[in-house]
Amino acid sequence: MAAIEKLGDIPSAMKAVVVRAPNDYRYEDIPVPAVGDDDVLIKVLGAGICGSDVKCWHGSPYIWGGPDYPKYIREPVIAGHEFFGKVVAIGPKAAEKHKVGLGDHVVPEQIIPCGKCRYCETGYYYLCGVHDIYGFRQGTAEGGMAEYARLPINSRVHKFPESFNLDVAAYIEPLGCAIHGVERGDIQFFDVVAVAGLGPVGMGMLQACALKNPKELIAIDLQDKRLKLAAELGATVCLNPSEVDVRAEIAKLTAGYGVDVYVHASGHPKGVQQGLDIIRKQGRYVEYSVFGENVTTDWSVIGDGKEINILGGHLSPWDSYTSAIRFLNDGRIKADKIITHRLPLEKWGDGFDLAAKGDESIKVLLIP
Ligand SMILES: [Zn+2]
Ligand SMILES: [Zn+2]
Repeated sequence: MAAIEKLGDIPSAMKAVVVRAPNDYRYEDIPVPAVGDDDVLIKVLGAGICGSDVKCWHGSPYIWGGPDYPKYIREPVIAGHEFFGKVVAIGPKAAEKHKVGLGDHVVPEQIIPCGKCRYCETGYYYLCGVHDIYGFRQGTAEGGMAEYARLPINSRVHKFPESFNLDVAAYIEPLGCAIHGVERGDIQFFDVVAVAGLGPVGMGMLQACALKNPKELIAIDLQDKRLKLAAELGATVCLNPSEVDVRAEIAKLTAGYGVDVYVHASGHPKGVQQGLDIIRKQGRYVEYSVFGENVTTDWSVIGDGKEINILGGHLSPWDSYTSAIRFLNDGRIKADKIITHRLPLEKWGDGFDLAAKGDESIKVLLIP
């Protein structure tokens, strides 16, 4: 049996951002994960802060459990699922499975599928019943906000092409999610498409929609600064609901019918109502948001009113990561203005604050 290969000296201790409880994250010294035959160890080169990380930090019941939700997280755990790095140690079984070697730059998908449940067995591994996501499960899915990260054998590991610009590598995960959401909308050339909520995922959705060449691509957001960037990235019409009557503008643009496809990533209940208001009959509504509060609306519009096709979107399965890598590598999708802040890992608290406010920032990166 081949031995575990290592690149250079790997220390025994490392710095990491450890989730202990809501509002109790700590920058700690902990052991570098041990590497077995099944494992890849990467030196982490960057980790993005996701909206879900901010929600976890603030104690969202969706993650910590509550009357309506089972507890999802298993703490203490190293935070972070949007990370990439360089392979510095690899076991023989892992090398064979992932087809990567020492020195390769890689990114793992955020989910580590169990490989055994009904969803995994039928190819829908991103809906895995166990649902181990990096950064949320102590032991089985420790995250990447650390100097090193262990990728367990069931990880789905993607290698970057030689020419890949590592400055945009942390955008692969959110872009993968964006691509999956857009694929769910099944966009056609003659469609009028609206993307609402221009955070990191929404900005990726906008650009992925543009690659489908729809008739019109409408960007909707409350921040003019983000709409300006959306126009640079392919939006043909930009609407700010705090300044214009979006419903009236869409009616003008579509001879009163409404948009064919509404892609929603704002996470706000008002974005749902807006979508139901501006979508045409038989339109396709893609919901990719995670909401901070319940949404209340008159559901009659979905059936009796418009016969709307409601499509959920979750994570970034199958070719989403490879497409994200390809589009970033050939420049057809841009991330340089979406990644707005890079902070050293020890400034994680400032990074989370920036990401939570979201007025100056779009995507915030932590660099170990
Ligand atoms: Zn994420
Ligand atoms: Zn599974």
